[in-house]
Amino acid sequence: MTFNKSGIINIIPNNNFDSIKTCEVLTQKLESKGFTIPKEYDANAELNICIGGDGAFLRAVHNNYFSSIPYVGINTGHLGFFQEILPEKIDSFIDNYINDAYFIEEIFLVEANVCTKTDCINLLGINEIVIKGIESKVVHLEVFIDDNHLEKFSGDGLIVSTPVGSTAYNYSSAGCIVYPTLKTLQLTPLSPISSKAYRSLLNSAIIPGDMTIKIKPEYLYENSILIINDGVQNKYDDIVEVSFNMSKTTIFRLVFDKDMYWNNLKSKFL
Ligand code: NAP
Repeated sequence: MTFNKSGIINIIPNNNFDSIKTCEVLTQKLESKGFTIPKEYDANAELNICIGGDGAFLRAVHNNYFSSIPYVGINTGHLGFFQEILPEKIDSFIDNYINDAYFIEEIFLVEANVCTKTDCINLLGINEIVIKGIESKVVHLEVFIDDNHLEKFSGDGLIVSTPVGSTAYNYSSAGCIVYPTLKTLQLTPLSPISSKAYRSLLNSAIIPGDMTIKIKPEYLYENSILIINDGVQNKYDDIVEVSFNMSKTTIFRLVFDKDMYWNNLKSKFL
């Protein structure tokens, strides 16, 4: 994969004070090295730099329609699992960027095709897409993998997580951590009920990226389902089925330290 070197860099900060300050410093330093920093998002840029935490990264990608321009993050946020660069390391980041001392990682996305009685809507998720009930109701969902019936799930809901999303909601819900380059989806139950009345898998399942997870709400529940896409809630009426696939669309991020993933896991989760 080759990327353009237009000399234009988009900087996308969130609204917090530290991010705006970091944006000013970064703009000045990049301009002094000959880069152009546009006032508005420029689709011809060679790099997108997000400033904030993971939430800022997720919003930047969604707001810019899953652009194929590579992303890198400067962490001024809480956790910043996606955000490799620290504000005090901006100088070495710029030097390494100019010297091409990085590799490009492809980020696999989850796609949901939500079909109602009248329409189908496509959603993309970086971390995950979740099916839950409205008003904290139990949901009853038929689950199929590549058209094979797996279970009738009853509980709070199901998460379909990407590898990069495996450390997010999935991890808090006892899902396992999946290295970002593995092409898989993870189906993780939220408070599954396993009793004489209902029987649901209690643990997550890792599904190959070329298989389809199909979920059909029980007839009575087709108007009581929420679809939550990277933390953004959507409500559709008359849902008949939702199919999940690993999307053909991917995004890219620059990684400067090849050991970052494992160091991040230790420093941010233990
Ligand atoms: P949010 O406040 O933006 O994020 C919740 C926490 O998840 C923040 O600490 C965030 O890091 C962290 N996070 C996001 N993506 C991550 C990743 N890939 N790996 C590790 N940590 C990650 O919450 P939101 O706006 O409702 O939703 C955004 C994301 O939060 C969702 O995609 C979902 O994965 C996650 N979430 C988690 C739970 C849970 O753990 N119980 C519940 C709902 C949503 P920063 O502090 O750096 O932003």
